[in-house]
Amino acid sequence: MPSNAELFERASRSIPGGVNSPVRAFRSVGGTPRFITRGAGPYIWDAEGTRYVDYVGSWGPAILGHAHPDVVRAVQQAACNGLSFGAPTEAEITLAETLIDRLPSMEQVRLVSSGTEATMTAIRLARGATARNKIIKFEGCYHGHADSLLVKAGSGLLTFGNPTSAGVPPEFVEHTLVLDYNDLAAVETAFGQYGHDIACVIVEPVAGNMNLVKPAAGFLEGLRTLCTRHGALLIFDEVMTGFRVGPQGVQGLTGIKPDLTTLAKVIGGGMPVGAFGGSNEVMRHVAPLGAVYQAGTLSGNPVAVAAGLETLRLIAAPGFYESLAAQTRKLADGLQERARAAGVAFSADAIGGMFGIYFSEQVPTSLAQVSACDVEAFKRFFHAMLGHGVHFAPSAFEAGFVSAAHDDSVIGYTLDAAEQVFASMKG
Ligand SMILES: *Cc1c(COP(=O)(O)O)cnc(C)c1O
Repeated sequence: MPSNAELFERASRSIPGGVNSPVRAFRSVGGTPRFITRGAGPYIWDAEGTRYVDYVGSWGPAILGHAHPDVVRAVQQAACNGLSFGAPTEAEITLAETLIDRLPSMEQVRLVSSGTEATMTAIRLARGATARNKIIKFEGCYHGHADSLLVKAGSGLLTFGNPTSAGVPPEFVEHTLVLDYNDLAAVETAFGQYGHDIACVIVEPVAGNMNLVKPAAGFLEGLRTLCTRHGALLIFDEVMTGFRVGPQGVQGLTGIKPDLTTLAKVIGGGMPVGAFGGSNEVMRHVAPLGAVYQAGTLSGNPVAVAAGLETLRLIAAPGFYESLAAQTRKLADGLQERARAAGVAFSADAIGGMFGIYFSEQVPTSLAQVSACDVEAFKRFFHAMLGHGVHFAPSAFEAGFVSAAHDDSVIGYTLDAAEQVFASMKG
């Protein structure tokens, strides 16, 4: 049986950094990534046979826990009938209808294969539908790796952004304004200056890619008002929060209706599915109806759609989100209590099946506050918990995820481990 270290060494010879997505490489926490051999419910097992309670959940999709038997069966049945046709299927209609039915802001939806595709196309659509160029995004929000979104704020207020990746020409981001999350005044100023040319504002309505940061009171409402006033489209990137924080995403919790919504993660149940949707009025600009081009060989893939549909069916069970939110809250509160008892500066927050853990006294409300948390303490906590068989995200800048399979005994096991770890961290 090869060890994780042996596999990592081997992987690093054929795959850049040994991984197919950077955060998996453990660069921000150090050490050797675990190579996963299987998952079941709340657990994953690595190549050395070690079991972990998993709070990554494939970064959100695994809301039912790993390898839920009904989802696996749906995938097996679909696979038996053919893996991909590049022609329409009835199941795609059912998935589209299910999404539209659950999210009232969407009258039409297009299926794609990832969150990146969903957000990239939603922005193209916003630009095409408004015949405007500029977009507003917020620092710390992640919307996938399309060129125009790999950008950080420039040096001055209202300067256009700088690429955060090599290979992105500055010209590709010159239309992207990058503002601080929860800073509505900055958005107002931006609209004051560029309102006639702002196609859209894209936002994670609860940010989950700079750890967990909730929207300040009035922030999302303010975005809605400003977009409407200036004729720009409001895009809620609910790739992470959709069907994660509640049955209708953040839009359901807040009652705020975005013009476009992007989805992925949970709606694929662990298979590659993304989606973007909005009103008929906006969606009629998408090819072949309209002039905004978008396509995908594997879009609406029948096996992926089967996994998504079965997942969406199961999470519609009465009480599903009440129970998920209660377990997640139990974890967050339990961690905070145990840290406090040990005298470790720590806070935690939760919404639906998502949580944030912060090595700071207060729950952060901005990227600056998240960045000020004690990263060294996080690393020690992360590795010590891993040593106890508990797998948190290998970065201090990611949210965590609880699944329906995380029952009281699993949460209790986690809190017992955390109690020991916090005690060892004191001093
Ligand atoms: C994960 C994520 C994406 C990107 O989705 P991929 O499927 O990884 O391309 C986009 N937006 C948000 C908010 C995400 O959390």
